[in-house]
Amino acid sequence: MEIADSVKFFLDAVPPDVVIVAAAKHRTIDEVEAVIRAGITHIGQNYVQQAKPMVQALGGRAEWHMIGHLQRNKVSPAVQIFNLIETLDSARLARAIDSRCEDLGKVMLVLIEINSGRESNKTGVLPEQLDDLLAEIVDLKHIRIMGLMTMGPRFGDPEDSRPYFKATRKEFDRLSAMNLPNVTMRYLSMGMSNSYQVAIEEGANIIRVGTKIFGERPRK
Ligand SMILES: *Cc1c(COP(=O)(O)O)cnc(C)c1O
Repeated sequence: MEIADSVKFFLDAVPPDVVIVAAAKHRTIDEVEAVIRAGITHIGQNYVQQAKPMVQALGGRAEWHMIGHLQRNKVSPAVQIFNLIETLDSARLARAIDSRCEDLGKVMLVLIEINSGRESNKTGVLPEQLDDLLAEIVDLKHIRIMGLMTMGPRFGDPEDSRPYFKATRKEFDRLSAMNLPNVTMRYLSMGMSNSYQVAIEEGANIIRVGTKIFGERPRK
């Protein structure tokens, strides 16, 4: 399918209150330009060094989400490039973002990444670590917590993702009810090409779609 057709498919298939983040790792600026032209308003990047030239070329035409693991030594360029960081998963990272944003006089919007699959090789915090992390970071003045993100399994039966999405939604609802200062439970980012429908059924209002918009990823 052409990029414009797959974008049209998603814009038609997904409820209007669900944000489609086009996951653009290893894509070219031309490909990303094509999805923006077709109507996508949010671009996700996993790597600061890939995002940089794209934001330089296409900057104001989209919102830019960091969806990959953010290393602390990349925080400085990241807070200048991205509108929202979906992958906050430690207090140390939060403090690094906060301190850099204080220098720049800005407030960074972040989602906390939940390791709902409890896989030790995965990034994100375990649900039971969430309250401790929040306690450490809610006072930081230069970040604002806007919701939660989770990965879940990338391949296989989309139904296999449902328990992970349910578990994340449960934390989302619990935190919403707590009404914490500096926390606005606005976004729940779950679901990828194989699982976006299940994610939306379970309450996602951000989905991150790569392959089903751009086609199979080029091998590096
Ligand atoms: C690549 C990626 C996606 C999109 O995956 P697809 O299966 O290509 O849709 C979503 N979220 C994250 C964090 C990714 O790295």
